[in-house]
Amino acid sequence: MSGNIRTFSQKAFHTFEQCPLKFRYVYRDGLAWLREYHFRKNSAQWVKRGQDFHLMAERYFLRLPTAQLTPAFPEGEAWLASLKECIPLREEETYFPECQVVCEWDYPLMATFDLVRLHAGRITLYDWKVGAHPLRTRALKKSWQTVVYLVVAEREGKRYFGTGTNELSLVYWNPVFPDSPVTFTLSPSSLQRYQRRIREAASCCKEILEGGEALPNHSHCPLCPYRYCCTGEPLGEAAFEQEEVSWDAEVSWDDITEIPF
Ligand code: SF4
Repeated sequence: MSGNIRTFSQKAFHTFEQCPLKFRYVYRDGLAWLREYHFRKNSAQWVKRGQDFHLMAERYFLRLPTAQLTPAFPEGEAWLASLKECIPLREEETYFPECQVVCEWDYPLMATFDLVRLHAGRITLYDWKVGAHPLRTRALKKSWQTVVYLVVAEREGKRYFGTGTNELSLVYWNPVFPDSPVTFTLSPSSLQRYQRRIREAASCCKEILEGGEALPNHSHCPLCPYRYCCTGEPLGEAAFEQEEVSWDAEVSWDDITEIPF
């Protein structure tokens, strides 16, 4: 495969879906990633909260002391307490926090799981979505993250975690709303659907990477940080009116590890 990437992430497919031309700018032409959240209201504080929470969660599941990390925000300790209540550490379970998995398939794929939990013959993936708004099930259901994460884990569970499973789930959890997780369990029919969706998107992305045409999607322009490249105009007010980092609209801080892919 030509172009800048050889392995696809949910971020690449999400960018392609937003605008094929934006995908080309980043993944073929090599323009630097502009983090959309830099343009948002309150974004810096939510990015910091997200980073600290991920670090606290990683230490907790590695059974490292968490008391040494003083979160840079007042809710931090309460969020960690909610996490401990939601997923208490058990001797008979195995935890793999912050785990990047690459899947060699028709199209190479990668995913970065916040947590992989092996319990009672099941594999459950977790993604921490730190934000001021409750999770939205419908949007998460069709998000590229759900599609790519479940396919990658289904294909690579045995190799990376030493176990296959008949039950593979992905749980999105926001510590601000600890009682409202959103869970998707992979079924044979959803696996087929997800694989088809990936093949279709990857084939289009590959064409662009190999020099094919990348059509603009003008409906995304008002919020696109590459607007200046297309129109010579800076971002409009709409972009700055956006609220804090939004998990489903643009880059969230935990996509950062997947941005090169
Ligand atoms: S400004 Fe519009 S057409 Fe240009 S890359 Fe962004 S979304 Fe696509």
